[in-house]
Amino acid sequence: MNQANTVLENDINQETDGKPMITINDLSKWYGKLKVLSNINLEVAPQEVVVVIGASGSGKSTLLRCINFLEKAQKGTINIDGVQVTHKSKNLHQVRKDVGMVFQHFNLFPHMTVMNNVIEGLIQVKHMKRGDALELGAEMLEKVGMSDKAEVYPSVISGGQKQRVAIARALAMNPKIMLFDEPTSALDPELVGEVLLVMKDLAKEGMTMMVVTHEMGFAQEVADRVIYMDEGQIIEEGKPEDVFSNPQNERTQAFLSHIL
Ligand code: ADP
Ligand code: MG
Repeated sequence: MNQANTVLENDINQETDGKPMITINDLSKWYGKLKVLSNINLEVAPQEVVVVIGASGSGKSTLLRCINFLEKAQKGTINIDGVQVTHKSKNLHQVRKDVGMVFQHFNLFPHMTVMNNVIEGLIQVKHMKRGDALELGAEMLEKVGMSDKAEVYPSVISGGQKQRVAIARALAMNPKIMLFDEPTSALDPELVGEVLLVMKDLAKEGMTMMVVTHEMGFAQEVADRVIYMDEGQIIEEGKPEDVFSNPQNERTQAFLSHIL
């Protein structure tokens, strides 16, 4: 067991050269006069799973949206897999493909079948032939346990199933990083587990992930690191067991005493 782990770690180190997958330097963002991200510095290693927690309005979604370049920060830099990206970059399009995102609301197209939802980006963005896209789409649906629903419309599947399709759609683009913004918050409690299971599998496969969630069990089990955000700043971070059982900052303590 130990030996196997050592070999795996060595492989990973060789493969990645120890360079971070995401590097954020001194990132700040304002909406008008409101500063919503304040001097964020963060590195995420390849294959690392980072869970982001914090009160509503603390800037969690904005941070993910900046990493996906859906939002533009006024200050600071973001590197994705060693490439510095700005909104003016010629490579912005490419980098966006490298960063998959799953939202609280599934954003599936209601007029398209599950399969067509999954392959839409492959055909429109990657210009893949329909036959090839269908093959890859089938593989992705199998990964999230949704093969049997390929030909139905989103309106007839549950929220948990919709979210699994949304994950398959993001994975089909072959991203280097997956960002999840409260992927289970809109789900009925009995549907949360099936989505978390898919995310756990993805983590096991070595996907680099940033996950905003209130699912502390998931964080405890899957996260390599937990980050606590407050008023646009990262004010505490560490291994889940340390942050949860022994938070250092009193605001982290207050937040966790509410949520745990
Ligand atoms: P969280 O995801 O942690 O709840 P957000 O990143 O959504 O926080 O929001 C951070 C702050 O930015 C909040 O005060 C929110 O009201 C504000 N905000 C978010 N999006 C916008 C926007 N498009 N325009 C103006 N203010 C926004
Ligand atoms: Mg949010």
